[in-house]
Amino acid sequence: MKIVKVDKRGKDSLYATFLIMTLVPLLAFGLIAITFVSNRVRESTKEQVVKNLKNIEAAVENSYDIMYPGDYNILVMKKSRTLYKGEAPLSGNTELIDAIKKESGMDISLFFADLRLVTTMLDENGDRYIDVAAADRVVAEVFIGKTEMFYDNVTIGTIPYYAYYKPIFSEDGDTCIGMIGVAMPSATVNAEVMKSIYQTILILIAFMIITAFVIIRSSSKIIDIIQRILKFLRELANDNLDARLDEVVLGRKDELGEIGLASSKVQMSLKKLIERDALTGLYNRRAGERKLDNLEKQGIKSSISIGDIDFFKKFNDSFGHECGDVVLKEVAASLNEGMRGKGFVARWGGEEFLLVFENIEETAAGLMLIDILQGVRDRVIEYDGQTHSVTMTFGVVGRAEDEKVADQIRRADDKLYEGKQGGRNRVIV
Ligand code: GH3
Ligand code: MG
Ligand code: MG
Repeated sequence: MKIVKVDKRGKDSLYATFLIMTLVPLLAFGLIAITFVSNRVRESTKEQVVKNLKNIEAAVENSYDIMYPGDYNILVMKKSRTLYKGEAPLSGNTELIDAIKKESGMDISLFFADLRLVTTMLDENGDRYIDVAAADRVVAEVFIGKTEMFYDNVTIGTIPYYAYYKPIFSEDGDTCIGMIGVAMPSATVNAEVMKSIYQTILILIAFMIITAFVIIRSSSKIIDIIQRILKFLRELANDNLDARLDEVVLGRKDELGEIGLASSKVQMSLKKLIERDALTGLYNRRAGERKLDNLEKQGIKSSISIGDIDFFKKFNDSFGHECGDVVLKEVAASLNEGMRGKGFVARWGGEEFLLVFENIEETAAGLMLIDILQGVRDRVIEYDGQTHSVTMTFGVVGRAEDEKVADQIRRADDKLYEGKQGGRNRVIV
């Protein structure tokens, strides 16, 4: 089976999926939040503007009542009209409303009927914007309709305004004689709205950037772990059963750590399946050869022995094949114990074993083998209510200069043959 290699950061990669999975909803959330917040800010700023306009209107009305008690009335002389409050002429007397404008930034106008007579508004020449009729809509709704109104788009001169108009009544309280209007240029209000929205949008964008950063970082970490597991599995797939899985993966306490651990266990099972002999649990011949090759590659000089159970055919014939199997297992265990700390044992053939003494000279290996042989002899093997014991013959050779492993094994085999010829149950060095 071919393993398809995915580009780590490509469009088919897990990384891309992670990003799409997290960044797209984040972006959608951001857009919705920005739209929602913008609308809320716009609404609440408008509400605030209405409130402020009403407050200023009330302030103007109250101030006039306190300073100039009496009714609003008009004096018409030839072409000029003068607006009075009680005894005081308001036309030309703009001190109060100018002061309020300075304080609040809002324009104030007093109307007689539909006509603007006193105002803080200036035309393009810098003159007071007076003797001009209010917009038709305002006249119809506020003056004729006698209702206070808020407008979010009324044009005064050429400029759009947010404005609040309130009718003013004669003393009898029935006749509407004019209006008080308080206005703020739409541009000023909109600038205020934009300022608040910008701040909110900036905060939201900062939040999104930080969240995206955290998401990208943690996805990268997860993907890095997956990549390490993948690399390990690829090596296993390429027959490198000695591949090592990164400690970082095994150290994780989550599912990825578990996948890592399970992969390592699969590796161990595979190794066992491939390297171990099923009956005795020793290394099989293939693994033995591979280990010898590795030792040679590392330049470790080892003595090698081939050992063979004596008269095993006869044993099988006398006590049965199954009993023979038990003997093989017991002998294997005995050899394994004997070789502990010295090197390793492999099952070389039916009842033949390869013993490798790592970094040990021939003579020393020979002496060790004598003890190992004694261990085999002393092993009491029980089967079917009977006890048995076996002997073995070993040939052992050291590593000659520039000798190939295969040649060293052949020489060990020759020594074994020599031992068999010589009467068995011995070690030939
Ligand atoms: P020698 O002392 O010369 O080595 O005599 P031997 O009888 O041991 O030699 P031979 O090579 O003639 O016989 C080896 C026997 O080992 C033959 C075979 O039936 C037996 N054998 C090989 N593998 C197994 C196994 O896995 N289980 C059992 N029970 N017997 C096995
Ligand atoms: Mg044999
Ligand atoms: Mg034999």
